[in-house]
Amino acid sequence: MTNENKLREKICTIGASLYQRGLTFGASGNISVRLDDGWLMTPTGSTMGSLDPAKLSRLDNKGNLLSGDKPTKEAFLHRVMYEHRNKARAVVHLHSSYAAAVSCLECNDCMNVIPPLTAYYVMRVGRLPLVPYYPPGDVDLAKAVGELAGNHHAVLLANHGPVVSGTSLEEALYATEELEETAKLYLLLNQHKTRPLTVDQVDELNQRFGNK
Ligand code: ZN
Repeated sequence: MTNENKLREKICTIGASLYQRGLTFGASGNISVRLDDGWLMTPTGSTMGSLDPAKLSRLDNKGNLLSGDKPTKEAFLHRVMYEHRNKARAVVHLHSSYAAAVSCLECNDCMNVIPPLTAYYVMRVGRLPLVPYYPPGDVDLAKAVGELAGNHHAVLLANHGPVVSGTSLEEALYATEELEETAKLYLLLNQHKTRPLTVDQVDELNQRFGNK
């Protein structure tokens, strides 16, 4: 099987897994992978629960559709992440419930909306900025994501959901899952006196494990 075909299978397997676990629903959420000469993307209007590897949108490196169904309407969110992150090989975007819930909260620090509750959150996600609200498809949304993407591989769209890039499809997936689980912890801890990691503890993790 060619590398591209393996990636097609992997996107569909991951899509089904996200759907079965309730991390995506209806036709929401999308996944893309960067190839040497373009992209694979989940199609518009498709449900992640039953993606067909042969129907994934295959784009050239200018974004023109070469084969498969038309790409997701949120393709621009993916493109802008890749544009600002040379090493990104995959992007996952979900409307997953806990992250979407946090995206509707007033933020104390809008450049870092979830405190460093666990070491794995710091290692996989780091600082998560909130992108101001724009209607879906608005060009200003792409601009706002672009302004943050150079310094953040994960961003949270206000009243919407997370956009997460990774150096591989697995990395993007694991970071998205870590973000969702930590958003859940954050909401569970609401009203409780909480002890997040200290600045020194976060610095030490970044030194030991690097920042994405
Ligand atoms: Zn969306």
